[in-house]
Parts: sequence; structure tokens; C-alpha cells
Amino acid sequence: MRLALTQQQFQLHYQIQVDDEGHPLGAEALLRWQHPQRGLIAPDEFIPVLEETELIIPIGLWVLRTACLQLKHWQGHALTDDLVIAVNISAKQFRKAEFVMQMQLLLRETGARAQRIKLELTESMVLEDVDEAIAKMHELKALGIRFSMDDFGTGYSSLQYLKLLPLDQIKIDKSFVRDITTDPNDAAIVQAIIAITKALELDVIAEGVETQAQEDFLNQHGCHHFQGYLFGKAMPLNEFEDKLLHLPPNLPQKI
Ligand code: C2E
Ligand code: MG
Ligand code: MG
Repeated sequence: MRLALTQQQFQLHYQIQVDDEGHPLGAEALLRWQHPQRGLIAPDEFIPVLEETELIIPIGLWVLRTACLQLKHWQGHALTDDLVIAVNISAKQFRKAEFVMQMQLLLRETGARAQRIKLELTESMVLEDVDEAIAKMHELKALGIRFSMDDFGTGYSSLQYLKLLPLDQIKIDKSFVRDITTDPNDAAIVQAIIAITKALELDVIAEGVETQAQEDFLNQHGCHHFQGYLFGKAMPLNEFEDKLLHLPPNLPQKI
């Protein structure tokens, strides 16, 4: 894997995020490993190894740099100027003392606008040291960076902490969305999550939206931002940019 990094076998794919009129809001950057023999490998297969070996730190940095460079490329073009890239951050990466400084350097080095970056954190990584996480999030927020809580509701959620974290968005996990139209429990959980986001004045986005019926349910219950196969899978940059040409244009000042 060390070799894979030096040989540039890692790639970023982009999965579109849209609003209820199909306007693109941005994309989640998702890591892929283009293995010379095994072909394209999804992150669930290799991220745990990256985490164990701490290789997630240089690779996570590469992901952030690639996303920042992409944002810089998109700047000033009508179709892409307002797009936000969501980047998954590993607990190991976030916990490093130098993370805030690295982010600051990346912004300066690439010329990307912090307002176009959304960091996806997970509950478990934040809960390990809540005070430190909160302090770090505030420092990053001061730069203009935004935060989305990924996999919400799948771990040990603490509503007490949720209230203290300077989040901008909660992401409804795909495991709740999958059976939203058939399982009353999942439907109730999703409604409760949406209610929490409203009470805390946070944005909400649903991932794993695969059917029109799921989108309709979410829309009816107050969630108007979506990500999922219904709108597009994660795809290489050229395909993603091609896709943008065939969508209604994004609207200024929306995230
Ligand atoms: P995640 O952040 O929760 O990402 C969402 C996953 O759901 C992605 O899988 C995406 O392809 C998949 N997905 C999206 N829409 C649908 C849908 O409609 N139906 C279904 N069944 N699945 C959908 P992917 O790309 O395999 O990523 C898996 C996980 O790997 C991510 O989960 C994230 O935790 C991690 N990951 C990906 N890229 C990075 C990265 O750059 N850094 C770190 N630290 N973790 C990453
Ligand atoms: Mg994510
Ligand atoms: Mg997720």
C-alpha cells in the first residue's frame, strides 16, 4: 500500500449531492484503489488496513489536497463555482495535533476556498475526546470549513454531545434509508433524525437514496438534500463533470 501511494494507484471518485429540484450542491469524494492486478477496490476493503498501519494519515492528506486542487479548478466556472466537496476524515487523521495547521497550509497552497470544503466526521471519532474535538472543530470553522456528521445514528450517539459540536449538517445513514418505505421503525428513526436537525438548526442530507419512493418520503418529511444511486454512483472526475452538463445548473449560495 505504501507502494500504491508512491505509484499513484489511489484515485478520488465523486458522488453527486443534489437538492429536491435536482440541482447539484456538490459531491462526496470517495477513495478508490486502482490495483494493477485486482482492478478497482472499494474503500471498505482497504481503509481498515490503512488505519492500522497509520498510512491513512498520508493518504488522507492526499485526499484533502486532491479535493482542494479540484475546488480550485472549479473556481470561477459557472457550472462548478458553488460546488462543495465533502471529504471523509479518519479518526487517526483528525486526532493529530497538526491537523488544523495542515488544513490551513493546504488552503493557502492550493488557493481553494474553505467554504467549499465539508469535512465528514463520525460519531465515534468525536466521542473519544469530545473537548479536543470541539476545540479543533472551532478552529477549523474559524477558517470557514464546514462539518457534516456521517453515519449518524449507527454508533453510540450522544445527543448531549451533538448539541455541543459545531456541526453544520447531519447525514442520515444509508442503513436507515434503505427500508424507509417498508419498515415503520426505519421510517420513524429517519423522522426523528430530521426532527433533531430542525431543533438544532442543522442541515440534513440523506445518503443511499436509490428510489423515487425514498426521495418522496424524505421530501415529505423535511429532508431536501440527497445522495445516492438514484442521482449517480461515485464516478471518476471526467464522468462527474460530464454529468454536471446534463443537470439543471446549481444555484448560487446553496450548500
Ligand atoms: P461513507 O462515507 O458513508 O460513504 C458512503 C458509501 O455509500 C460509499 O461507499 C458510497 O459509494 C455508498 N453509496 C452511495 N450511494 C449509495 C446508494 O444509493 N446505495 C448504496 N447501497 N450505497 C451507496 P464507498 O465509496 O465504498 O465508501 C465506503 C466508506 O469508506 C465510506 O463510507 C467512508 O467511511 C470510507 N471512505 C471513503 N473514502 C474515504 C476517504 O477518503 N477517507 C476516509 N477516511 N474514509 C473514506
Ligand atoms: Mg462519508
Ligand atoms: Mg455515510
